[in-house]
Amino acid sequence: MVRTYRNPEFPYTPPPELEGGPGRCPVAIVGAGPSGLTAAIDLARHGVASVVLDDNNTVSIGSRAICFAKRTLEILDRLGCGEAMVNKGVTWQLGKVFFHDREVYRFNLLPEEGHRMPAFINLQQYYAEEYLVRRAQAFPEQIDLRWKNRITGIDSRPDGTRLTVDTPDGDYALDCDYVLAADGANSGIRDMLGLECSGQVFNDRFLIADVVMKAEFPTERWFWFDPPFHPGQSVLLHKQPDDVWRIDFQLGPDADPDEEKKEENIRPRVQAMLGDDVDFQLEWASVYTFRCRKMDSFIYNRVLFIGDASAQVSPFGARGANGGIQGVENLCWKLGRVIHGEAPEELLASYDAERQHGAAENIGHSTRATDFITPKTPTIRAFRDAALQLSEHYPFARALVNSGRLSRPCVYDGSPLNTGDSDAFPSLLRPGSPPEDAPVTVHGQQTWWLHLLGDRFHLLVDGRVGVDTADGLADALRAVLDAVPEVSLRLVGPVPHALRQLPRSTIVEDPQGYLAARHDLRPGTAYLFRPDQHVAARWRELTAGRVIDAHNRALGHSLRTSQEERHAAAGA
Ligand SMILES: Cc1cc2nc3c(=O)[nH]c(=O)nc-3n(C[C@H](O)[C@H](O)[C@H](O)COP(=O)(O)OP(=O)(O)OC[C@H]3O[C@@H](n4cnc5c(N)ncnc54)[C@H](O)[C@@H]3O)c2cc1C
Repeated sequence: MVRTYRNPEFPYTPPPELEGGPGRCPVAIVGAGPSGLTAAIDLARHGVASVVLDDNNTVSIGSRAICFAKRTLEILDRLGCGEAMVNKGVTWQLGKVFFHDREVYRFNLLPEEGHRMPAFINLQQYYAEEYLVRRAQAFPEQIDLRWKNRITGIDSRPDGTRLTVDTPDGDYALDCDYVLAADGANSGIRDMLGLECSGQVFNDRFLIADVVMKAEFPTERWFWFDPPFHPGQSVLLHKQPDDVWRIDFQLGPDADPDEEKKEENIRPRVQAMLGDDVDFQLEWASVYTFRCRKMDSFIYNRVLFIGDASAQVSPFGARGANGGIQGVENLCWKLGRVIHGEAPEELLASYDAERQHGAAENIGHSTRATDFITPKTPTIRAFRDAALQLSEHYPFARALVNSGRLSRPCVYDGSPLNTGDSDAFPSLLRPGSPPEDAPVTVHGQQTWWLHLLGDRFHLLVDGRVGVDTADGLADALRAVLDAVPEVSLRLVGPVPHALRQLPRSTIVEDPQGYLAARHDLRPGTAYLFRPDQHVAARWRELTAGRVIDAHNRALGHSLRTSQEERHAAAGA
């Protein structure tokens, strides 16, 4: 086997608690995988210091995630490492589906222009983690990264947690206001607290063969059902950086993993697929099965479960790390607000509500894809093959074909943080939705809408109103800015004079019209965005009262009220 990547070794430093007795920290993050590292950086940006504890001293070993989705890249861009990952990664947006020896159809995941981030990149998980570590190291005051620190015990109470940490130099105790459990699919924290993660276990085995070769294939996702070179099973091909190609072979439930991992057994499979004349070297081989499952609650006292520790999916659709990072973004602004005393602790319950919804959606897609790829009975297989056959000529059948619906961010429909929508809007960008990017200009300089949103509350207002309504709108906006100091304004211009002098406001031009089209903007239309850039509320006609109420709601104040009401009712 060849190696194109050498795992870095991060230094272990004996923690001060080994000498000085139990330590204290506002947040401990257990696990420096994609979820834990992203959380540490996001929390640092929200002014929250954390101690990150990992039992290892390097990034992910071997081949795991490779596909990172647009929304994840937007989040990582906000955190300061998305661009580097895109530059290193292999960008793609086209997928092709083959049945037997023929292409039956293709799909484009981002057919339109005007987005900063691509539909997907392929980047080995170890590179992604390395970029995250480097980024985390840029916050030495806020992020205390502790390698070779393994959690061996946890004592969780309603008001805090004590962790027992094992190091090469002995044990120490760490008292934390909050713990983020990011310790992966087999979370020890979950087990030590006696909590369950329930769902479905799939028995089919899959072989990952990462091969190094110079090949002419385009940078697209190719998925074969029942191809002549691997009859009865499926195969997936992806290009990664450094001329590494990921090939996933479905093996069926009875395959012997030890045999399948042997190079002499992998070579003929790969050669049958690529042709005898293609020269390649094997970089990595592993055999995996998977589970689709989640915890019933992601919160236990002040322990918050994130990433694979909270929920797991099959690799089809690339929803694991992508879903995990979207969950992290959901949590961090809320935790930051709660720790700074700017929101009630009940706001954290909305992390559970919203991400349970997200996890269930991811698990649903992932399970359906797995069922389609691995039909369990001859009858189901016959239906599956009929759908594949029809999909070549009939677009309706393509909706039935499922080679993995690729990761999309969840819309938090029904979230207690949303303010009811009016029916004067199309459903795109309804409250709870993730944002849509667009190229815009500010003072003649080109920038991106998501850069202007950042990680604070923002009010987008189409300020291209007539002079007759401008004064009224300006008064309402002034009242909002006075009442809610953390909200900033993004006014789509050109705006009339009355709107030019407002504090905390930026006038944004939309020369190509992408922002207006994606938000269905009309003069006076307004959107309130949360710090995770999701839509909290929108109106055709804004009033100060509506915006202030929506902001209060998005901060979880209505959750506290309803809890107080419940307690009062229980007391009565
Ligand atoms: C074959 C395969 C392909 C995949 N492809 C994709 C894909 O294309 N796209 C995608 O989005 N996802 C994909 N995934 C899923 C992705 O790899 C995971 O979702 C992701 O790694 C989860 O990140 P995490 O940080 O939550 O957990 P992990 O990456 O598992 O990190 C957990 C960390 O916690 C540490 N740890 C564990 N226990 C302790 C302890 N007691 N004390 C201290 N530290 C501890 C571990 O050392 C580790 O560093 C794939 C997975 C597999 C297996």
